[in-house]
Amino acid sequence: MKKHLIVVLIFICVAWSAFLLTGCNSKDSANQYEINFVVDNNFYAKTNVSNGTIEKMPSDPQKEKYIFQGWYFDNNQWNKPLTQQAILDLPITNDKTINVYAYFVAYNCNADGKEHSLIETTSVKATCTQNGSKTYVCTACDYSYSQVIYATGHNCKKTITKEATCTENGTAHFVCENCGYAYNEKINAVGHNLGALVVTTSAKCKQDGEGYRHCSRCGEDIIESIPQTNHKLDSTKHCINDGCEYFEMFNCSVVVTSQFGTFTKDLSLEYGKPFYVSPESYGVEQLKFLGYYNGEEKVSDEKGNFNAVFQGQKSLSVTAKYYFAVTKADDLIALQDNSFLATYFTNQKHTEPLKVEIENEIDFKNVNWQPITINGYIDLNGKNHTLKNYYSTSGGLFTTVGKTYVNSTTIKNIIFETANLNIENLSADNVGKYSEMYTIGILASRITGAIEGITIKSGTIRVEYNGDLDLLVAGICGRVNSIINCTNHATITTNTAVAGGITVSADSVVGCKNYGIITTGDYIVSAMINSVYSNSYGTSGIVCEATSIERCINYANLTCKRLNIAGISITAKQITECSNFGDITATNGSAAGISYLCTNYDIEKACVDRCSNHGNITGIEYVAGIVCSSLGIANSYNVGDIISKTGYAGGIAVSYTNLVTMKYCYNDGTVKGKTGCFGGIVGKAQNVSLLKCINNDNNWASGTYNQTLCKVNDGTDNCFIELGYDSSIWQFNGNGKPMLKWETEYEA
Ligand SMILES: [Zn+2]
Ligand SMILES: [Zn+2]
Ligand SMILES: [Zn+2]
Ligand SMILES: [Zn+2]
Repeated sequence: MKKHLIVVLIFICVAWSAFLLTGCNSKDSANQYEINFVVDNNFYAKTNVSNGTIEKMPSDPQKEKYIFQGWYFDNNQWNKPLTQQAILDLPITNDKTINVYAYFVAYNCNADGKEHSLIETTSVKATCTQNGSKTYVCTACDYSYSQVIYATGHNCKKTITKEATCTENGTAHFVCENCGYAYNEKINAVGHNLGALVVTTSAKCKQDGEGYRHCSRCGEDIIESIPQTNHKLDSTKHCINDGCEYFEMFNCSVVVTSQFGTFTKDLSLEYGKPFYVSPESYGVEQLKFLGYYNGEEKVSDEKGNFNAVFQGQKSLSVTAKYYFAVTKADDLIALQDNSFLATYFTNQKHTEPLKVEIENEIDFKNVNWQPITINGYIDLNGKNHTLKNYYSTSGGLFTTVGKTYVNSTTIKNIIFETANLNIENLSADNVGKYSEMYTIGILASRITGAIEGITIKSGTIRVEYNGDLDLLVAGICGRVNSIINCTNHATITTNTAVAGGITVSADSVVGCKNYGIITTGDYIVSAMINSVYSNSYGTSGIVCEATSIERCINYANLTCKRLNIAGISITAKQITECSNFGDITATNGSAAGISYLCTNYDIEKACVDRCSNHGNITGIEYVAGIVCSSLGIANSYNVGDIISKTGYAGGIAVSYTNLVTMKYCYNDGTVKGKTGCFGGIVGKAQNVSLLKCINNDNNWASGTYNQTLCKVNDGTDNCFIELGYDSSIWQFNGNGKPMLKWETEYEA
């Protein structure tokens, strides 16, 4: 090192151009400045600095006997030269104007003001990356200075050595032409130039699809996933997307009401599909489900499958209908003993009888039946199945059925074959108690309601009874509200004094027939003797007491020892179109072919109308072909023998009260009574009017009567026709014994 060596920094254009060329790794400054160049406190020049680059450097200032050393930020200090780096390092401030100052150093060439005699002694060339320098030495003094020659920066030439493709990066190779410095630069892949998507597999609701796009640049088909579409549900909750079968279920509350109660089933159902609601069984094995109903419309089958498909409703109300199926004798017992049914019957509304159906023939062989009681309403249909070999020493099939509501129970269409009741020690539990009387019958002791179509094809009822209440015996049912089209063939033999071939007591009896021989005894209890009941009860082919009787026929012989006896009834208010063909014998009372009494107080209306007697009627008090006492008789006839051994006899009636009207009646039977106490039409007339009656002799009546247009039968139909017997009522056979038209139309 030389003494007093002063390094003079000279900014020369070459140095600045080096700054400007170093683009390979330049650094930007966002600041823009204005630089004022100041020489000895005078403005000299100015220029802008933009992005770290000085736009234009002024020419170096000249000062006599001084050598310009460079521009400095710190005036008089001369520590902070203006360099490229200094510009880049300038703080970012609001002050956009910066001053730089010219630094001069005075010559020192032997202090005489002479110029130095400079020679360049050493010279280091600047390279691309390293500064060079020139050193000048004064030959006359020690003065020297070095001039920095800044690195030139590389002069790079770019060569693409690998082109970028759609998917692969390329490479650019840079070589400095000056120094050979070389480096590679990545060229990013350009990406495919893809066309429209070609779908190869469509996306599904829950499965991605696939397709591809063709690259026009590289020709590759780029596979692309197509996202799943997800389900799109319509109002039926079914996915409407093509080929998708996905659906969601609806929640539906099905409210089922039956006669046994209401329950709700919460179901999950598919729209538009058949649906099913499992029927409740209530734990009763005999209960058969008939279906669900909407009002009267049946909306399901017998398994609970609905006829319609589900329509998405949130709730549904239906009625469940059931019937109780009887396939064996024990099923009938279940009607009484099943605890669920017992509770049901207790709370039962009378408008909803339990439907009961007999499904097949039932054989009671080897069973001594204990009658069952149903304290509720049933609607029993035997469907004309046969109950064979019914046998009981206790009573009928049922004791009592029904509650207090009339006609809320019906029992119909049962055939009994070989039915045997053999009563010796009657238990009061097995009879229907009515007032001071018990009743009993093969079907039931008592039914509150209606009976229809019950047939006892064969059988016997034998009763030996000596209890303390009167026991009334019936072929079918002791007491019932109405009984229709029932037939009894069972013989009835009892030591008691009251029996009816069909029933003992009913409001209405229609279309019933009795073929069973009835033989009653004389056992009655004091309650019956001398009471009103003695005029209502006795031995009868059909019924003892009834309100109205129609189209009933007795074919059987009846015999009693006590009280009264008749082919159809003991007492009734209206008897229409009834016939008796049996021989009727009272060994100790009155007897009639049709009824002992008929007491309709409507005197304008014949309370006995279109009835006939064909059997022989024998008694010891009042004996009549049709009715012992009645308020009005019309269109009736007798062809049987009417015999009162010790009392009055009448071919049509015996009257002890006023017989208001007797018209269009004829007698062709033999009538005999106590001397002077019998007549072909009326046995004991008291102010009776006979109108157009015909007898086989002119003994119309005993007692007081008047007759109008009455005739003696001449054995032809003429006298009937002449009297105006109505051919719509009468069937003329040419023999003077016309029949009633209904008889010819009514099969026995
Ligand atoms: Zn010098
Ligand atoms: Zn280079
Ligand atoms: Zn491509
Ligand atoms: Zn879907």
